[in-house]
Amino acid sequence: MRSSVDGQKAIVTGANSGIGRAVAIALARAGADVVVNYVDRAEAADDVVAEIRAAGRNGIAVHADVADEGEVAALFAAARAAFGTVDIVVANAGLQDDAPAAAMTLAQWHRVMDVNLTGQFLCAREAIREFLRRGVVASVSAAAGKIICMSSVHQTIPWAGHANYAASKGGIRMMMESLAQEVAPRRIRVNAIAPGAIRTPINRPAWETSEALSRLLQLIPYGRIGEPEDVARAAVWLASDESDYVVGTTLYVDGGMTLFPGFSTNG
Ligand code: NAD
Repeated sequence: MRSSVDGQKAIVTGANSGIGRAVAIALARAGADVVVNYVDRAEAADDVVAEIRAAGRNGIAVHADVADEGEVAALFAAARAAFGTVDIVVANAGLQDDAPAAAMTLAQWHRVMDVNLTGQFLCAREAIREFLRRGVVASVSAAAGKIICMSSVHQTIPWAGHANYAASKGGIRMMMESLAQEVAPRRIRVNAIAPGAIRTPINRPAWETSEALSRLLQLIPYGRIGEPEDVARAAVWLASDESDYVVGTTLYVDGGMTLFPGFSTNG
């Protein structure tokens, strides 16, 4: 049983920012070659590739919109062309487009569902196809492949003003569990990570002023905001054989945000 992801080939979507960036670098430091997917800011993707190479691994940046079926297929084709196969897929790309329900446009609803939910399905489907094609290579991993869906605490915590985002993350939970049930007999492990509040560009207004941060900290029993590396360490573990018996599980990395902290003094 290996403790690392040494020699494995990974794709991380949305890997030029925030959590995806940290996951890509952590996988490389644990021994993987990594495809850094991005949809904008190519130079930020190149920076991540430079960090991967500094860690002694191979990295390439590949442009693809995860909501586009053809571009996702091309992303996986590029990974196979560069590295031969894929062992680990971290479906991380996501966005918010917030509005009160009465003001939310259909375009806002569709865009968030297309990227956050359909995008993860398209990546998971391509991953499953590749893992089924190749099967288990015992010298590489006990599993035929690992898929990690980046969900959110909002797969369980309702979020007023963010109905599209919360619905997309709730959808990820049932998609992940259904896929896990379906492909576990083929030795493919599908799991999710549900981050709480992590310091990244997606939620900058929630932490960039001291007033906002202190409001946010009232929701976090552990008393600090999460850093992208907190999530990255969990992703490396879920991708490695250390977690070989973990199937269809959501790992909450949230400092206790899902523990109903309002009840600690008020229940
Ligand atoms: P971020 O904005 O820093 O990163 C999001 C990444 O997704 C960026 O690289 C962006 O370019 C990419 N992306 C967006 N649309 C894309 C598309 N169509 N195709 C390809 N890539 C696309 O934010 P983050 O916090 O690092 O978010 C990463 C994931 O973590 C998201 O799924 C988000 O929902 C989830 N998450 C974040 C938090 C948090 O507190 N930061 C909490 C829970 C869940």
